[in-house]
Amino acid sequence: MQRIREKVGLAPLICAPVKADAYGHGAVPMARAAIDAGASYLAVASVDEGAELRSAGIGVPILVLSLPLPEELVSAARLGLSLLLGDEDMVKEAAFAAEQAGEKLAVHLKIDTGMGRVGCRPEAASTLAAYITSFPSLVYAGTATHLSVADSRVLEDIRYTKKQLSLFTKSIESIRVAGFDPGIVHAANSGAVLLHGDACFDLVRPGILLYGYSPVEHPPITVEPVMELITRIVLIKTMRRGEAVSYGRTWTASEDTRIATIPVGYGDGLPRGLSGNFSVCIQRRLYPLVGRICMDQCMIDLGNDTDIRRWDEVTIFGGKARSAAELAAKLCTIPYEIMCNINKRVPRVYAYL
Ligand SMILES: *Cc1c(COP(=O)(O)O)cnc(C)c1O
Repeated sequence: MQRIREKVGLAPLICAPVKADAYGHGAVPMARAAIDAGASYLAVASVDEGAELRSAGIGVPILVLSLPLPEELVSAARLGLSLLLGDEDMVKEAAFAAEQAGEKLAVHLKIDTGMGRVGCRPEAASTLAAYITSFPSLVYAGTATHLSVADSRVLEDIRYTKKQLSLFTKSIESIRVAGFDPGIVHAANSGAVLLHGDACFDLVRPGILLYGYSPVEHPPITVEPVMELITRIVLIKTMRRGEAVSYGRTWTASEDTRIATIPVGYGDGLPRGLSGNFSVCIQRRLYPLVGRICMDQCMIDLGNDTDIRRWDEVTIFGGKARSAAELAAKLCTIPYEIMCNINKRVPRVYAYL
């Protein structure tokens, strides 16, 4: 949060995305930590995620980034969530739901400037602004867009982002010209915070950066992974040359060796695709995973290192181990997915520094 604040300057508000259980870190504790560190908004994907934060007593404005279903709108209004909407049908539904709930519902007008996901066309923005404003149960609180390649340093992508930003600024201008206040204007995700200072407007929504990963290579601010996946050795045994480990017997000991079992598997969200292609950290040294990752367990080859003991701590990623980004690269994915997939069987333990 502090480094993001230094990067964006004093003006923009910071919205902390805590969707998908705060990228797997636990929505409520991460939301509280972000607020303590200066976030004034939170963002979630669904009304249910917003409800979880409200139940925990969190009162700051919460943006719902994805489109809710019509039947969720009354709850959204009761919970005081802010919706990002980009079409008249949803605006109308939201207005009726807010009336039914007897609450004012905050709406941010979402403009699709090139993400190709949700939002109205830039040329429809001022008409939609007028439409939102026409309902007394709605508050036209902000205007937003989302950038699809803001984290890229490829020239064509930089141009694409500039084009998205110019479409966005023109839409904002058209809303003002039509006599409406666009409210809080926002566009920047982590990539834009790092590479596009002109995308910061009134509020920024950096997600992955808050969790210590950069979507950009060689980021201009230092990032340190927040999540460490830690377990302990539950058994060590000596395997003889020629003996096989795990399902499918894909790995066989080429000489006598010590094999440790750890109680983590794909049932916790450790991708099975990493079988035989990944190392974990024990006492500052890296040891390879051998054989297939099972649902609840996997095995590590300790070689002849006799100083590693049963019950020793094993870091699977983060901290001194490989980062979730290195792990993601092996699977042609991004650290976002690795962290989101660490599921609720894994207890979260929070260490505040
Ligand atoms: C997830 C999301 C963000 C945050 O993206 P990061 O790449 O994690 O910074 C921002 N805005 C919207 C609309 C999103 O869906």
